[in-house]
Amino acid sequence: MINLILIGPPGAGKGTQARILEERLGLQQLSTGDMLRAEIDAGTPLGLRVKDIMASGALVSDDIVIDIIRKRMAEPDCAKGVIFDGFPRTVAQARALDEMIIDAGLKLNAVIQIVVDEAKLIGRVLERANTSAEKRPDDDPDVLKKRLSAYHAQTAPILPYYETAGRLQKVDGMQPIEFVASQIKTILGR
Ligand code: ADP
Repeated sequence: MINLILIGPPGAGKGTQARILEERLGLQQLSTGDMLRAEIDAGTPLGLRVKDIMASGALVSDDIVIDIIRKRMAEPDCAKGVIFDGFPRTVAQARALDEMIIDAGLKLNAVIQIVVDEAKLIGRVLERANTSAEKRPDDDPDVLKKRLSAYHAQTAPILPYYETAGRLQKVDGMQPIEFVASQIKTILGR
């Protein structure tokens, strides 16, 4: 069983790499973004609460995402190992995840930062918006700027949180998809 975190700004390729790992290593991808979008699509009370926040590019509250991750982790398909994609996104979430992992008697095998050239990211995300079948209201240039600033203000501080504990490893996210995937597999010893 392998549990890992992928960290990187919007457009870094977390989702792409998570899907590759899911397919090749049989791990379960847990994307908080996808889970929240599913709540919105289903019109649940939680979906209604987060809809406008997400569309604006801001982060939803720690309590909400910690709660959905806690519930999701208890489901049987997570026993095969989990790829956290888009979580944790704040230091409070990182601390909560450490506690959850310890309480469940599990181990975090790797925390991987996908390092990218942000000047090139904008183009990547906007291209995704133009070519993707499912339109995301937050894949718009102004909202993307907000998502990037939320990343710098709230998510980037989790890098030193993991780095000081010697847990952070980096891959070059500007390489082709397959090469990034092989860097990750090497870190995981696969
Ligand atoms: P991307 O990977 O492109 O940045 P996501 O699909 O991961 O986007 O997330 C989209 C939006 O969902 C975020 O901008 C935020 O509003 C919300 N969200 C997702 N995960 C979290 C989280 N862990 N904490 C707070 N908000 C989150």
